[in-house]
Amino acid sequence: MFATANAHHRAAPAGKSLTMQSHNVYIGLGSNLDNPTQQVIDGINALAALRETQLLATSSLYASAPIGPQDQPPFINAVALIKTALTPIALLDALQALEQDAGRVRKRHWGERTLDLDILLFGEQTIEHPRLKVPHPFMCERRFVLEPLLEVSPHAHLPNGTALSQVLPETLTQEIWHHCTLALDSLGSVAPQ
Ligand code: ATP
Ligand code: CA
Ligand code: CA
Repeated sequence: MFATANAHHRAAPAGKSLTMQSHNVYIGLGSNLDNPTQQVIDGINALAALRETQLLATSSLYASAPIGPQDQPPFINAVALIKTALTPIALLDALQALEQDAGRVRKRHWGERTLDLDILLFGEQTIEHPRLKVPHPFMCERRFVLEPLLEVSPHAHLPNGTALSQVLPETLTQEIWHHCTLALDSLGSVAPQ
């Protein structure tokens, strides 16, 4: 499932081994406030620092027009692939803590935010929980999610077997722009290339 064609993958860092059962999880990142490029880079580095979690790969950064209210700045988006031994809800808690650390304030639905961290896919699991729906309910409708995810893993699929590469063409009327490529160093930090 996880091809390594053109994305920024790396081996697990020494000293951070996952002994418990772990899953490959895709995280969607987005920001359109307070230096969005840096917010997303910091967000990816914060994912790498989560307990029981390794950062395996990251997409490039993309720019996209906002969904929802149009009177807000464009977004910077990326997708990161992590391997984590956290449970889905423990991971959601950790992501929401990172959003708070980034100073996220909820003003309006689909409004501007310093950092948004969505769980897109959690291994092969389908999750229907009051706080957590996986696969992310709107991921297949959003080019700014599908394109970076496919950059990381061109053969990624939904738990029902649908290849995301088959879904992408339906979103191509949405405009996104390649913003910059990220380099992943051997210690697991990312920076613009
Ligand atoms: P969207 O879900 O359309 O991308 P959003 O990211 O703006 O919108 P938020 O306000 O960030 O939505 O999150 C609202 C709630 O969504 C969160 O409190 C969380 O409990 C819930 N949620 C459900 N499924 C997921 C998921 N897969 N990843 C992250 N949050 C989720
Ligand atoms: Ca979102
Ligand atoms: Ca969210």
